[in-house]
Amino acid sequence: MGAMKLLILGGTSEASALARALAGDPHYDAMLSLAGRTEYPAPSPIPVRRGGFGGSEGLARFLAENRIDVLIDATHPFAAAMKRHAVEAAKQAGAPLLAIRRPTWEPREGDQWISVANLGKAAAALGDEPKRVLLTTGRNNLAPFAAAPQHFYVLRSVAAPALEELPPHVEVITARGPFTLADELRLLGDKTIDILVTKNSGGTATAAKLDAARALSLPVVMVRRPELPDAPANVESVKEALAWLERGHGVTSSA
Ligand code: NAP
Repeated sequence: MGAMKLLILGGTSEASALARALAGDPHYDAMLSLAGRTEYPAPSPIPVRRGGFGGSEGLARFLAENRIDVLIDATHPFAAAMKRHAVEAAKQAGAPLLAIRRPTWEPREGDQWISVANLGKAAAALGDEPKRVLLTTGRNNLAPFAAAPQHFYVLRSVAAPALEELPPHVEVITARGPFTLADELRLLGDKTIDILVTKNSGGTATAAKLDAARALSLPVVMVRRPELPDAPANVESVKEALAWLERGHGVTSSA
């Protein structure tokens, strides 16, 4: 039997970790798909394709033409369009789909979370009084914050945002996680931050900011996840994804 052909929809730490775990394993022939938004993505040990597929139809065609055996959705919890397309395309192409969906972050004792449905509501939740805001919702969709120019924003993102989309009072920090608690305490202290804005991404790479906000008694505006369609198979971690693949492929970890 030939190697199992996998297409990993990526752009996340899980996708990179899965690629590292599968690289060099003769049971798998895996390719990583990136949206192509990040100019300098982290290096990948498996072949990479970049750019959209052209909706669910395009992805279904790609799966058929490349004889993909299994589609793995390892996109970010807020990449709702890609997740929807993955479910539809897998159905159309008759390919099994495994979705890696990290658990959401849940508030702990001492947290002061303001839960909101979207970025517009997040900007509104900052209020009228000028504040110093740590904004970690990514470099896209900054319009709601540009429309709340009374605040000073420290915007941290993996890649720099487009200048014309920035709020008027802003400092941009480009950095890629993981971040430690010490990193986050230093950042919140050095920049005299009053409030943090984040998406409920989940995972460990960027969770330390929540511990730091709790330690400093700072409020956190938490953007809830978008509604997502059900995938036929779901796991929460890369480890579980590897176990799922091994079961499907009849390979055991001692092989
Ligand atoms: P999205 O809104 O769900 O997707 C928009 C379009 O981008 C999709 O319809 C698809 O184009 C293309 N696309 C998205 N992910 C792709 C992938 N892995 N490979 C090929 N094409 C892809 O996605 P998004 O929120 O803009 O996220 C884009 C990328 O950034 C994803 O890889 C995601 O994992 C990563 N990311 C997103 C966030 C976030 O907060 N949204 C955070 C961290 C990382 P077509 O319809 O033409 O196929």
